[in-house]
Amino acid sequence: MKVLIATDKPFAKVAVDGIRKEIEAAGYELALLEKYTEKKQLLDAVKDANAIIIRSDIIDAEVLDAAKDLKIVVRAGAGYDNVDLDSATAHGVCVMNTPGQNSNAVAELALGLMVFAVRNFYNGTSGTELMGKKLGIHAYGNVGRNVARVARGFGMEIYAYDAFCPKEVIEKDGAKAVDSAEELYATCDVVSLHIPATAETKNSINYALLNKMPKGAMLVNTARKEVINEAELIKLMEDRVDFKYVTDIMPSAHAELAEKFAARYFSTPKKMGAQTAEANINAGIAAANQIVGFFKDGCEKFRVNK
Ligand code: NAD
Repeated sequence: MKVLIATDKPFAKVAVDGIRKEIEAAGYELALLEKYTEKKQLLDAVKDANAIIIRSDIIDAEVLDAAKDLKIVVRAGAGYDNVDLDSATAHGVCVMNTPGQNSNAVAELALGLMVFAVRNFYNGTSGTELMGKKLGIHAYGNVGRNVARVARGFGMEIYAYDAFCPKEVIEKDGAKAVDSAEELYATCDVVSLHIPATAETKNSINYALLNKMPKGAMLVNTARKEVINEAELIKLMEDRVDFKYVTDIMPSAHAELAEKFAARYFSTPKKMGAQTAEANINAGIAAANQIVGFFKDGCEKFRVNK
């Protein structure tokens, strides 16, 4: 059995060592394709792979066509919008993610972005505090719950909206569950975004929704850039000089946002929410264990395609 780690942006070495240990203990072979610069390298590497571990790498129909012996792809991380799920299903390939393994890393980054923004990007001027502010968590999944946990330590008042998570689950944690995204944005000083990028959520964070937020509002995005309607965000920031936007996913309109709103906008240079040694190790080893469980016991617990 051949397991390929195909990572354009490599795992930390300790994570690769941990994955290797799990894979070799199961009697499988581990192959490594890191920092590849051309798709052809990926197409060649997948030819004889039975399983692939990826990060943000694109697995499309062409890659799946080339991978004749492939049975499973595991996205070491939460979002799996980089994998063509329909094509994987058509090719008989199981796709999994590793939910929860990087959630604390992303949550810590979200709070870091909030502090950075309310302290005026550390420019030496007087800012505001997070304590006592209303924080809206848009999607109460693995990352959202961790943001709630950390924000509670800052003394923030926590509200949450999730289209699928029962209200009791939110309220059991001491957060207030609201009935709609509109209510969340109208209520909260800061909204932290944690919805996945789906056909339904893409472009859904628009002018009308953001304009419901109170004066001095801030949106923190550690989810995906595709969920933001960027043209409407720019219009809103033109109309609302009080509004701040901080993100871990560089917008397509980054240059325009940076030029127009230098004092109210910040993006990390590249997505770094899950870029910690701990998250790398957790997600990488979870991916290896899921592959071993899939081949040895038929376990498909974290399958995300039909
Ligand atoms: P998760 O699957 O645990 O949680 C997603 C939550 O979104 C679920 O509770 C679900 O019910 C809810 N949801 C789905 N559609 C919704 C909708 N239309 N309205 C409201 N709620 C909706 O995922 P997670 O681990 O919390 O990660 C959330 C997202 O964050 C991922 O999809 C990924 O895009 C992004 N992410 C980014 C980084 C980073 O490095 N910045 C790292 C991990 C995850």
